[in-house]
Amino acid sequence: MTYDCIIIGMGIAGVSAAIYAKRAGLSVLILEKERPGGIINIIDNVENYPGIKSIAGPDLSMNLFDQIRTLQIPYKIAEVTKLSVVEDRKKVETNEEVYYARNVIVATGRSPILLDLPNVKELVGKGISTCALCDGTLYKEKEIAVVGGGNSALQEALYLSKIVKKIYLIHRRDEFRASEELIKRIKACPNVEFVYNSVITKVNEEEGHLASIEINNEKTIPVSALFIYIGYAPKTDFAKDLEITNPVGYFMVDENYETKVKGIFAVGDIIIKKVYQIVTAAAEGATAAIYISHQK
Ligand SMILES: Cc1cc2nc3c(=O)[nH]c(=O)nc-3n(C[C@H](O)[C@H](O)[C@H](O)COP(=O)(O)OP(=O)(O)OC[C@H]3O[C@@H](n4cnc5c(N)ncnc54)[C@H](O)[C@@H]3O)c2cc1C
Repeated sequence: MTYDCIIIGMGIAGVSAAIYAKRAGLSVLILEKERPGGIINIIDNVENYPGIKSIAGPDLSMNLFDQIRTLQIPYKIAEVTKLSVVEDRKKVETNEEVYYARNVIVATGRSPILLDLPNVKELVGKGISTCALCDGTLYKEKEIAVVGGGNSALQEALYLSKIVKKIYLIHRRDEFRASEELIKRIKACPNVEFVYNSVITKVNEEEGHLASIEINNEKTIPVSALFIYIGYAPKTDFAKDLEITNPVGYFMVDENYETKVKGIFAVGDIIIKKVYQIVTAAAEGATAAIYISHQK
């Protein structure tokens, strides 16, 4: 079978694309390697999506999945390993099967970047984390560190401040690059110490668990955990042969979210853009699907 549209990724961008594609009468298949909702699953609370005052990330993910099931949109849990073009069709290879479509919407999001220091990879899950919602409660009443200065770092530090005894918030600049509202809220937290103009130069372990971090090659701070929010890398390896990504792996798209390969679209966190938010990812998924439906 050749689908009208295969969507890779069941985060907000992929779900939005699927809703619009299905309702426009296209034959659709979603391929997702892990779980519905994507990165939303690790967000404590979403408070800036229009029409929803506040919702826990995992609840929003379940709502997305419910909508997919209500609309009877077919999906498979499978990892896409290669995307290519065969004559006028797109070939989508997964770890299990091969699928064909006239159009593909890639919505595979990004992964958190870790600090490039010895021990860091080994200590993930042993004191080092990129998910406050998943691991925060392990450090109840402990002293921890959060590194980063953007919206994600501040939002997650706020969540952790309600659980842990103390947070060292480490940032390499002297001011944050986050929303004014978040900056105001984090500065009002009595258990957050701001460590500006600082980089982590070493992470130290004891008995296989993070024990302390070294700042600017001089000061050592004992901590039970380090939460890293220093940026994200796109997940687009499976498309690298198509030469439609920039040197760091983000897709380059036009105003309809189509790449230079006709029929291959990209939406959400994996494209080059200014705003990486739920509302923009949802809008991009919808726009690509509507454009495809108008071509039919
Ligand atoms: C800590 C944090 C807090 C945030 N808070 C907010 C907030 O409060 N408000 C807001 O608007 N935005 C927030 N954001 C940003 C927002 O979550 C993202 O911009 C948005 O969710 C991205 O959606 P997406 O669909 O593009 O990607 P993702 O949600 O990352 O979804 C991509 C999906 O693709 C799947 N996938 C990846 N590779 C493959 C493959 N090869 N084969 C099959 N499937 C694959 C993944 O498993 C995943 O499910 C936050 C982000 C973070 C990290």
